[in-house]
Amino acid sequence: MKSLQGCTAIVTGAGSGIGRATAIALANEGANVLTTDMDEASAKETVSAIHAADGRAQSAPQNVVDEERWDDIFSLAADVYSTPSILINNAGIAIAGAIRDYSLDDWKKQMSVNLDSVFLGTRAGMRHMNDGGSIINLSSVAGLRGASGASAYCASKGGVRLFTKAAAIECAQLGLNIRVNSVHPGIIDTPIWQTDLARMTEIMPEEQSKALSIHDGSNSGIDASILGAMSSPMGRAGKPEEVADLITFLVSDKASYINGQEHVIDGAMTSN
Ligand code: NAD
Repeated sequence: MKSLQGCTAIVTGAGSGIGRATAIALANEGANVLTTDMDEASAKETVSAIHAADGRAQSAPQNVVDEERWDDIFSLAADVYSTPSILINNAGIAIAGAIRDYSLDDWKKQMSVNLDSVFLGTRAGMRHMNDGGSIINLSSVAGLRGASGASAYCASKGGVRLFTKAAAIECAQLGLNIRVNSVHPGIIDTPIWQTDLARMTEIMPEEQSKALSIHDGSNSGIDASILGAMSSPMGRAGKPEEVADLITFLVSDKASYINGQEHVIDGAMTSN
């Protein structure tokens, strides 16, 4: 039998990158998946990919910082499938930039999308996951150590790391039977590098910035495959599917005693 047969999962930011790969991986293991994203069209594309492989999925628009929407999302998943037992707090953005030029508005937005959302999602999970379950919060290697040009992102992901540990302890003490873990990817080749993270190059030494920047027509930003090759001793960036496989294991019963921990997946990038 598939490891998640009959379980219901909610994946935020499921229209792209790690969220899409995770939604597909969970469905492949038999889960019913509610894919949510601010960009509903992209969440629908993920659903089409799951249906094409005979999986079960439905999409819903969700801005993860909208407090009230969280109850709707859990109720919708329960109505369509069954009480959710898996929540992947994956949606995130990366507003890069030098601290001296960084605006308070950008700081607040960064915290709100990456950290407030994880609080709101986890709280909703604790209120709605009546039969227990598993919550995964996407942090980053940037939640374990600093990165120049990404201070607010680091702060938000560091917050996710410790919030996760506190939530795991609280769930256990309350007897909720909900495990809470954080996942810390290194350089994973997804569209996030071609959007806001592009601004990281603003304060890099010129040679490094030239080596990493993409300038081909409509694409700009950082070339994750080059950065991954430079950063990981394995000489390459990670694939979203590799992160999805880790998450799929962590939410399964095979990980039943793994709780409150940070799971790094970075090709040994932070091992030195
Ligand atoms: P991505 O840009 O490919 O996908 C992010 C998705 O989140 C998009 O579909 C976007 O529409 C959605 N989203 C953004 N803001 C939202 C909001 N307010 N409400 C709902 N949806 C929203 O990025 P990714 O690389 O797949 O990143 C997924 C997660 O993994 C993020 O939390 C990111 O910080 C984390 N992460 C990524 C990497 C990497 O190298 N790609 C490394 C470490 C951590």
